[in-house]
Parts: sequence; structure tokens; C-alpha cells
Amino acid sequence: MTKQLTIALSKGRIFEETLPLLSAAGIEAAENPEESRKLIIGTNHDNIRLVIVRATDVPTYVQYGAADFGIAGKDVLIEHGGDGLYQPLDLKIAKCRMMVAVRKGFDYAAAVKPGSRLRVASKYPNIAAEHFASKGVHIDLIKLYGSMELAPLVGLSDAIVDLVSTGNTLKANNLEAVEHIADISSRLVVNKAALKLKYDTIQPIIDVFAEATAQSAS
Ligand code: AMP
Repeated sequence: MTKQLTIALSKGRIFEETLPLLSAAGIEAAENPEESRKLIIGTNHDNIRLVIVRATDVPTYVQYGAADFGIAGKDVLIEHGGDGLYQPLDLKIAKCRMMVAVRKGFDYAAAVKPGSRLRVASKYPNIAAEHFASKGVHIDLIKLYGSMELAPLVGLSDAIVDLVSTGNTLKANNLEAVEHIADISSRLVVNKAALKLKYDTIQPIIDVFAEATAQSAS
């Protein structure tokens, strides 16, 4: 009997950039999640389905085995901690950088002397805390869920820790990136037990993804 396979994906850039990889593995989504309200989407294989979840929830679905594997940004994985997840492959999609940014003209160098205190707004409290701890800077962390760029403009924080891709959002809001924390891209995350139990189904898909990723990088 063919085993049921559930793949967790988030809408938007990750979904769009994952479609060619799924296609290379012979998997075609039956519907476009951007146009459908369905959270479970079938494929051209009776035993393979996609579940559409928030980007930050992908590791959780995979960790608990509700999805066998999924695709999540490195940002989300660092923040989640990666418990119970096997991360075999950097898919090199949805690339961007985790940066510290401030209002133009803010004297960042003076504000981050060891022992100083800074107000930082971010959706990524663990990444922000670890970054500033390594510099010996104390932070008051303000957890936000979106539009971090607004925080320094209205005096909510001195700095933000956020993803930067083109830099256009920072520019449009009179902010500048002052520090690079990490290069970010999306990774394949696999439930460790599922990989053992469904090895014959999952490993060939990982192999195709690895080959497609290597080809697009060369
Ligand atoms: P940009 O204007 O191209 O630098 O994009 C910056 C905005 O897009 C910020 O609000 C980021 O949080 C968001 N962003 C950039 N890259 C990504 C990504 N790979 N995944 C999720 N959000 C992103």
C-alpha cells in the first residue's frame, strides 16, 4: 500500500519557489492556494497532499508529525529551535538577509557600545537577543508581528531586527541597515520518524530536490 504523505508549505514566495521543485519530483498541486481558501490541497498523486500553514507554523506541523516534511525559512527555524526536525537541504530559495536597521542619522555605533542599552523591535526575539548578547549590549525587546519598519519612525524602538531582500522597504521608510546578522534561505525540514517509516517515499523526493537545487545554483 502506498503511504500517505503530507507536505507543509506557506503561501507566497515559498510556495511559488517550491512549485518547480515539486514539479521536478512529479508532484503538481491541484489548486493554487493564493486563489483557494482550502487549507488542504490535493496533488496529482492520491497519496500526496499539501497543507497550507503560516510560515512560522511549518516547523511545528513537521515536528509533531502532522506533516511529514515542509519548507521553512532559516529565520523561522532559528527562532523555532529546530527540535525533532531533520534539515537535510538548503533549497536556496526565498533568499534574504537578517539585518539590524535604524532610522537614518541614528548614531548606531555610539548606541551599541558594550554595556549600553537599546530598544529593539522584532518578530524574531531569540535571534535579536542572541545577536545583541554576543555584543555585550543589553536590549529591551519589543515583540511585534509585522511592519517592524514603523517602530523606529514613531519612537517605539531605536532599532529593528528584520529580513531585508531588495532594501526597498527600508529605503521607502527612511531607514538604513547597519548590521548583517545572517544570510537566510529556505530549508527542507523533515520529521525524523516519518523519514524512517516512509523512507522509500520521502528519500527519492529529497534526492530530486537536491539535484534541482544543485542545478539551479550552477
Ligand atoms: P525588501 O523591501 O525587498 O527589502 O523586503 C523587505 C520586507 O519583506 C520586510 O518587511 C521583510 O520582513 C520582508 N521579507 C523580505 N524577504 C523575506 C523573506 N525571504 N521571507 C519573508 N519575508 C521577507
